[in-house]
Amino acid sequence: MAIRTIIQPDNPTLRKKAIRVQSFDRKFQTLIDDMVETMLDAPGVGLAAPQVGVSQRLIVVRLQDDEASKEEFGEHAGVLYAVANPEIIKHSRILVEGIEACLSIPGYAGKVDRYDSVVITGLDRHGKPIRIKAKDWLARVFQHEIDHLEGKLYIDIATEVFRPSDQDDEKDAADKAAQTTS
Ligand SMILES: [Zn+2]
Repeated sequence: MAIRTIIQPDNPTLRKKAIRVQSFDRKFQTLIDDMVETMLDAPGVGLAAPQVGVSQRLIVVRLQDDEASKEEFGEHAGVLYAVANPEIIKHSRILVEGIEACLSIPGYAGKVDRYDSVVITGLDRHGKPIRIKAKDWLARVFQHEIDHLEGKLYIDIATEVFRPSDQDDEKDAADKAAQTTS
């Protein structure tokens, strides 16, 4: 496994629509392992392949599993999801505002409206169909990552973007953003 470089918006790959995963070969397995290592090292709770310069429809997601996170995320804490060709097939009507940040846009966070719950289908690392029901923060992270596959960044849809370190009154928001950097 290896830590890969996380690209920033000056790299056009981040703005491209990614292509569907066709092959679940050894190279693809290495890509997944490297993305997981890169995400955990950052640290972040999600990463999309375009963020490491690979224009393929692949995301990895893992919420933290410390005690507070276990309480907040329940059975989803610490579970590693690797999803190829993910699609949101269902979502709640309700949109909720939350703070998120992106490993490709260091130093910033933003307020973004996301669906409160989503159902995602896709393929696991071996090409087997999977279906994931996600709520709250997990749903938010999945939506953020799937947007990356369309070349879309949270700053495109944020109602407000700010630098957490510059605003003391946003400190709580910054703490929350650290939990949702992806
Ligand atoms: Zn991101």
